Amino acid sequence: MRRFSANYIHTVAGNPIRNGVVGVDEEGIIVEIIDHKGIEKEYAHTEFRNGIIVPGFVNAHCHTELSHLNKKVEPNTGLAGFVDQIRSHRLSGNQPNDKFIENAIIEMHRAGIVAVADICNTTESFYAKQNTRIHFINLIEVLGLEGEKALWITNKALATKLIADETLGTNNHLTPHSVYSLSSELLDMLSNEISNNYIVSIHFAESPDEEKFTVQRAGGLAENYASWGLSTQNAPNENPVAIVKKYLPRQAHTLFVHNTYLNNQQANELAQHFPNAYFVLCPASNIYIENALPDIPILTKTSVPIALGTDSLASSPTLSIFDQMQIITQHFPSIPFTEILKWGTMNGAKAIGLDDTLGTIELGKSPGLNLITPFDFSNNKPLPNSRVVKLI
Ligand SMILES: [Zn+2]
Repeated sequence: MRRFSANYIHTVAGNPIRNGVVGVDEEGIIVEIIDHKGIEKEYAHTEFRNGIIVPGFVNAHCHTELSHLNKKVEPNTGLAGFVDQIRSHRLSGNQPNDKFIENAIIEMHRAGIVAVADICNTTESFYAKQNTRIHFINLIEVLGLEGEKALWITNKALATKLIADETLGTNNHLTPHSVYSLSSELLDMLSNEISNNYIVSIHFAESPDEEKFTVQRAGGLAENYASWGLSTQNAPNENPVAIVKKYLPRQAHTLFVHNTYLNNQQANELAQHFPNAYFVLCPASNIYIENALPDIPILTKTSVPIALGTDSLASSPTLSIFDQMQIITQHFPSIPFTEILKWGTMNGAKAIGLDDTLGTIELGKSPGLNLITPFDFSNNKPLPNSRVVKLI
């Protein structure tokens, strides 16, 4: 057994334990949590560190497939500009590559991430995922505005899922890209396939252009489609909340990703309709693409738990959940760090259904342990120069 101690252990399941000790066995399972009420005491084989010990982080939204586009996409172009650049890279033959994906996974491992909900448009990331200890939930993403291609697109996604099931285990789910990129026919077909899904993930309210497109057929996304020569007549013509209510299963864990432009009324409507909704925030990506951040205080007033994601290296300088926490701490100083920590650990684990073993430091779980050091104990938050050290 190895024992770890620090100024505080943030179990996330309960109050922080001052000078606490956590014991883990060879498999990383927590076998001991000692709270000696703040009195320093020597325990054999204990490694004491300055800072706080927290559970491993959960990345609730990533695209490892886009890792080769690190620093290749212009920032601040808005969502339509970003989507157009990604498309151009794809058409120019700039394809995903094992080495970039492998490095991205290693980067996440070092950054203390223990589980990732990863969007997959192809099988490109599957090989790299076979050789990692990170738990991956693979979300096989479906998109396409041409109604006549809906069956072909669905079958292709099912074939990709089958390969994932055979090579990576069974935690793989079909999922829609967004409200602005699927035809009604495809949404219909997908809703049949995902009716019993445990997890659904959808990019949502990332830009004002989403609603402009679905309601008015105007804005940057509509301009993209026109310039690509793509007909939009089969796309649903309603507001984004009405579209998700119509096509997504109510009971699934539904991860609404981004929410940068979600307003109070929309947030409450989603909260009411989807009992297992999660708001997944990717602040580094939002700053990069739209130069904006979600109105997080509005989101925290709903019953919907918040989780954190990194998005991809195409729009985020790093794949670190701690970096997302730092951005939120900096921009929303009134939100307690203990709350933000919960979003990047326990809530993420719940969102992707891995909270039996991950997300909190509790006996019998194997959440991984991270040290955040140095730490500002008087204000109970990290310092700008704080970093993550993966302990196990
Ligand atoms: Zn994304």
